[in-house]
Amino acid sequence: LTIEEEYRAKHPTSQARYERALRDFPSGVTHDVRYQKPFPLYVERASGAHKWDVDGNELIDYTMGHGALLLGHAHPQIVEAVQVQIRRGTHYGAGHDLELEWAERIRELKPSCERVKFTASGTEATLLAMRLARAYTGREKILKFAGHFHGWQDYALPGEKPPFDAQPIPGVPRAVLESVVVAPVNDLDFVERRLAEGDIAAVILEPSGASWASIPLPEGFLHRLRAITERTGTLLIFDEVITGFRWSPGGVQGLLGIRPDLTTMAKIVAGGLPGGAVGGRADIMALLEFRDDPEWNRRRVAHPGTFNANPLSAAAGCACLQLVADPAVQRHADAMAARLRRGMNHVLVTHGIPGFVWGESSVFHIALGHTCTNQRGEDIRMPEGVSPIVLKTGMSPALATTLYQAMVNEGVDLFHGGGLLSVAHTPEDIDRTIEAFERAVLRMRD
Ligand code: PLP
Repeated sequence: LTIEEEYRAKHPTSQARYERALRDFPSGVTHDVRYQKPFPLYVERASGAHKWDVDGNELIDYTMGHGALLLGHAHPQIVEAVQVQIRRGTHYGAGHDLELEWAERIRELKPSCERVKFTASGTEATLLAMRLARAYTGREKILKFAGHFHGWQDYALPGEKPPFDAQPIPGVPRAVLESVVVAPVNDLDFVERRLAEGDIAAVILEPSGASWASIPLPEGFLHRLRAITERTGTLLIFDEVITGFRWSPGGVQGLLGIRPDLTTMAKIVAGGLPGGAVGGRADIMALLEFRDDPEWNRRRVAHPGTFNANPLSAAAGCACLQLVADPAVQRHADAMAARLRRGMNHVLVTHGIPGFVWGESSVFHIALGHTCTNQRGEDIRMPEGVSPIVLKTGMSPALATTLYQAMVNEGVDLFHGGGLLSVAHTPEDIDRTIEAFERAVLRMRD
């Protein structure tokens, strides 16, 4: 059997589900990144670092809720918190104790978040942060970096995908595109020159570098960016939707001791349920206040949202933040990811297969078909001698598809040509994954 034939043979029920899905959803999927040839898997249940598909296959999971599940699937304390809350009601249309606790836990872990507003997703969080920045500075433009992902709202899309300058974007008004300046990859000289013009409200970036460190930032980058933004009165927004509680209990800002003006969060913040948040300087967040002044209230920044601070998400979020405040969580996930990256690189070097695996914190990215100059079968954060487009895309779509199928055949579910780990991944999971990777790449070569 070919790799694809084996994939089909192992997943007849998923295939049947997908045929049904094609009638329900465009291309049969509910999130762009879940589109997979010849069809995606349908999953029935998940626990810890593992999940089981509808054909009964067990998979070691590296999608981990698109990064939301640092504690693994169905963590007992999160399940308990949600069960308790669901019996008490799922929406009060009123304030509740859990939203207070949730915000207080965020403020404790991220002192830059002097005030907080909850949203229903990370996309909403970046939309609100950009709006706040424009209102606060009276400037209209947002500067973002090529390759960085900030959700699917209109202002987040420019420059996200290679070749990083693709315009126009279907459905996005030209006026929106003109209000977003895309900085070339990691080009702080460009940023410094552009910010000097005085019309940029805020710089937003993933403080890990694009797509959870797939294009890593050079040493000192964030400190210099903080200095440039301060000097020009431009706000600095850290999009910590992925990194917020993963890079450290306080995110990248906690790790490096840098204070952004605004921070966007989602995923881990809501413990695996839908939810997001914006936190930041009290004087900026004050633009959301109501005052006894009709003129002010007409000009205040609006922020409704039916599911803001939803009690179920708050229950999961509080339970999760309590647990991830212990740095032993991140230390374990980081150690497992480093072991995985090293093991996979060792496999590639041992067999002379062109490719490399890189990452930091508890994430990894795989690029087959390319080489970098600093790879000797070890763990690497910053691949050298490779174009940013290769780092962002990882490998050709054909290779990515075949690797994905080959790994699923071996019982491993990758995410986006790599993956994110959790505290539930064990050394045994990692070693099984490295063995699976070895069999998969040898099979691809033969
Ligand atoms: N920002 C970053 C850095 C993300 O990785 C994501 C989602 O993956 C988002 C924003 C959007 O979050 P959501 O999918 O919750 O809308």
